[in-house]
Amino acid sequence: MNEDSILVKKHIIAPQACTGCGLCANVCKHGAIEMVLNHDGFLQPKVNSSICVNCGLCVKQCIALERNDKELGNKELTVDAYGAWNRDDDILLSSSSGGIFSALAHRVIEQGGIVFGVIWKDKLTASFSSADKIEDLAKMRGSKYVQALPLYVYRAVRRELLAGRLVLFSGTPCQVYALKKYLRKPYGNLLTIDIVCHGVPSHLLLKSYIFSKESMMGKQIGYVSFRDKPEGWQRYHVTCHYHDGALTSSAQQEDEYMNIFLSDKALNLACYNCSYASFPRQGDITVADYWGSEKHHYDWPVDKGISAVIVNSAKGKAVLDLCTTIVDFRPEDIKKIIEGQSAGFIRKNVLVPTERSKVLQLLRTRSLKYVHDWTCKRGKIGPFRLRYGSLLFKVLRFLQRGKSWLRNRVLS
Ligand SMILES: Cc1cc2nc3c(=O)[nH]c(=O)nc-3n(C[C@H](O)[C@H](O)[C@H](O)COP(=O)(O)OP(=O)(O)OC[C@H]3O[C@@H](n4cnc5c(N)ncnc54)[C@H](O)[C@@H]3O)c2cc1C
Ligand code: SF4
Ligand code: SF4
Ligand code: SF4
Repeated sequence: MNEDSILVKKHIIAPQACTGCGLCANVCKHGAIEMVLNHDGFLQPKVNSSICVNCGLCVKQCIALERNDKELGNKELTVDAYGAWNRDDDILLSSSSGGIFSALAHRVIEQGGIVFGVIWKDKLTASFSSADKIEDLAKMRGSKYVQALPLYVYRAVRRELLAGRLVLFSGTPCQVYALKKYLRKPYGNLLTIDIVCHGVPSHLLLKSYIFSKESMMGKQIGYVSFRDKPEGWQRYHVTCHYHDGALTSSAQQEDEYMNIFLSDKALNLACYNCSYASFPRQGDITVADYWGSEKHHYDWPVDKGISAVIVNSAKGKAVLDLCTTIVDFRPEDIKKIIEGQSAGFIRKNVLVPTERSKVLQLLRTRSLKYVHDWTCKRGKIGPFRLRYGSLLFKVLRFLQRGKSWLRNRVLS
């Protein structure tokens, strides 16, 4: 019997609800954990058994292995909230919604601080990075709708905090939660932003999307910009930037990536029952799109982008107060903000769609167009899943409508 089989393995084995936060890799002092993509295209830890000493720390710290019984209270009703937009049009137009991240990051850097956020490392990889120069913030602007590679970001944040520097960390709620767990104690010089998070789609989707666009254009993509505003914020576009300077762009409603992502059929499993993307929020400040703001405020610049900003701590409020000269803040009823997109604010107990595993399998084997049509252009009638517009679909829908018309007549 060799030594390995006598040892009880105490290291992490990615749990089903792994968020890909990378906390386990950050806590392992032996460098035994690497974050890799699994078969379904989601980040998870891979342990190198020849380096691992079986200390069990990664298991102890894992955020997905904690008891997940946090109840949703009515905390959301007591927070201060705003509709807000950056007064600098260039920044506003190059941000996903109202450019609030940039405003906060600006103030932090001006005070000698450092900002941690997500940039494109290459066309297939979004990853955490840091910036302590205003000009480096441009790369962090814009949502990259894919899991970001955490690298050793929590370690880097702690180093800066211990050096006494002001730090702004911006990430998804699970990443902010993981950072706070890594740090173990509160730091007065840490400010956190959690972005409202709908979930993250599989990397298989990005791979398939890039392959499809590159094949169509016969050239290489540099990066994808998911939130361009050539026709305004509400009808945002997804734009592919090619190495030779060429661009292709499609409105969100017609874009295969966004349609599959927003169908919720290719998200990470953790994102269907997420304790972090809810109230109480994880960051000192929460930022989101304020969808539906035009219904309440005809005079706001909705064509350029409106953020919802939620204040979750006194520290958050103090930093927002420093931004009033660069951001237009309008106090808003939190209920109106949530109304515009409850699925973004509360991710608890969302049903995992039955088609999810099929969509992931198709992403591995079929063209993007096929996956898109299968995922987004099919409707369910009774027990049947049929292509929209097919003869059978039309006939069954006609019969279904006739049946409910008849029932209504009988009832009236
Ligand atoms: C995966 C994902 C899902 C989202 N889902 C929703 C939603 O359902 N509803 C909603 O209102 N808003 C959602 N957002 C947030 C929204 O897109 C904007 O980021 C938000 O409105 C702030 O906009 P802004 O103009 O202030 O900042 P921007 O300039 O757009 O700043 C973007 C910020 O997001 C960070 N970021 C970008 N990509 C990632 C990533 N992959 N992982 C972690 N951080 C990232 C950057 O570091 C930066 O701090 C989501 C963002 C992501 C990344
Ligand atoms: S058990 Fe300890 S050494 Fe092994 S991977 Fe986990 S933290 Fe690293
Ligand atoms: S949830 Fe985070 S800490 Fe737990 S296994 Fe996944 S990456 Fe590691
Ligand atoms: S939905 Fe939850 S688990 Fe998924 S990326 Fe967002 S915060 Fe993390």
